[in-house]
Amino acid sequence: MSMTVMTKKRNEQGHLMIGEVDAVRLAAQYHTPLYAYDVSHIREKARAFKQAFERTGIAYQVAYASKAFSCTAMVQLAQEEGLSLDVVSGGELYTARQAGFPMEKVHFNGNNKSRQEISEALTAGIGCFVVDNFQELEMLSEESRRLDSAPAILLRVTPGVEASTHDYISTGGEDSKFGFDLHNGQAQKAVEQALAIPSLKLLGLHFHIGSQLFETSALVQALATLYRYLGYWRDTYRFVPEVINVGGGFGISYTRFDQPLRPETFVETIIQAIRAESDRHHIPVPQVWIEPGRAIVGEAGTTLYTIGSQKKIENVRHYVSVDGGMTDNIRPALYGAHYDAELANRTKQQDEKTYAIAGKACESGDMLIYDLSLPAVKSGDLLAVFSTGAYGYSMASNYNRLPRPPVVFVENNEHKLVVERESYADLVRNDRSLYA
Ligand SMILES: *Cc1c(COP(=O)(O)O)cnc(C)c1O
Repeated sequence: MSMTVMTKKRNEQGHLMIGEVDAVRLAAQYHTPLYAYDVSHIREKARAFKQAFERTGIAYQVAYASKAFSCTAMVQLAQEEGLSLDVVSGGELYTARQAGFPMEKVHFNGNNKSRQEISEALTAGIGCFVVDNFQELEMLSEESRRLDSAPAILLRVTPGVEASTHDYISTGGEDSKFGFDLHNGQAQKAVEQALAIPSLKLLGLHFHIGSQLFETSALVQALATLYRYLGYWRDTYRFVPEVINVGGGFGISYTRFDQPLRPETFVETIIQAIRAESDRHHIPVPQVWIEPGRAIVGEAGTTLYTIGSQKKIENVRHYVSVDGGMTDNIRPALYGAHYDAELANRTKQQDEKTYAIAGKACESGDMLIYDLSLPAVKSGDLLAVFSTGAYGYSMASNYNRLPRPPVVFVENNEHKLVVERESYADLVRNDRSLYA
């Protein structure tokens, strides 16, 4: 049994507990598949990052990367915890506005913001744009003049540092679709241009080197690289950054093989490196911003499924199917991501067999877990897949016209539905008849 599974709570009946509530009860009330979040876990993570900064005495912002899991209640929770908010689209911005999130604490990321999205964000009065490329710089210059606003910006740079993570989620190297390259002079050109646009306030620099980071050396290396250029830009343009944003990507535990660093370890190492580099290059210590997504919500989420059919292929594999799959969690199919799970209704029973957990979508690649030890499973058993809080619901689809599952928040013995299950009517809502 894995570490992830061992840290979970169970009640006397041997049922898994989520936020002090019996998972079997949650499944009975809301049906499956179901995303259930332990809200206190989200609060703990948010506070761990913030408190680590508080101890350093440095001005900071912890911006929750809402693409990991965005819905009205989650944005409201981020606000309750005093987080800033990263958005990457007009839709995430709209969600933040509907939730009543303070716009001055919203940061807009992304490599292809449309003119429409830029003008919506300017009109809303967001706190900061993280500018990714020259086209965006130009559009932002035009739109800010047109709307008579003076937005703050960070420039996203690619420091040419490879984080040791999956290719699809590594973004800091030279061959990346994101950001201005430091080494080939693009970043310098962007600084020069941004400083020359009177309607823009260049606050500082941003990088995000990748996701699911398990060590700090790539971050430290990226900072050292960035500061070499900062020293030069201070001499050449008299530009010193007020803000350095080192992005997110702090790793979490999906299975027992993942041994993540604590939030405070990341924060302390980043601050130490920034202090040392600022000192070395005679640059005042800037504000430090970070953008954790999965580290805030990932481990807090559990997906509950009901087990259905089985297919045993002698000496090959024993498939067990659940009532969801790639439509509510595409990460195994997309990145080969690994998850851990247990039978939420029978946690006390000994594991007996190794199963492959399949989804119900019409794709052979729709697998959630290839090798999972469980007690002998029966249809109707409840499977809890752990650490599904990030990039599960937010990447969900209606493939095979499966309605998206609901989301329930659980805290202090109480549970609250925060996203309703989609209905069949929802599925055809935007359809138009050939004959109407
Ligand atoms: C995706 C992303 C994040 C969050 O990544 P996590 O792995 O969820 O922490 C932060 N910043 C930027 C720019 C991103 O693209």
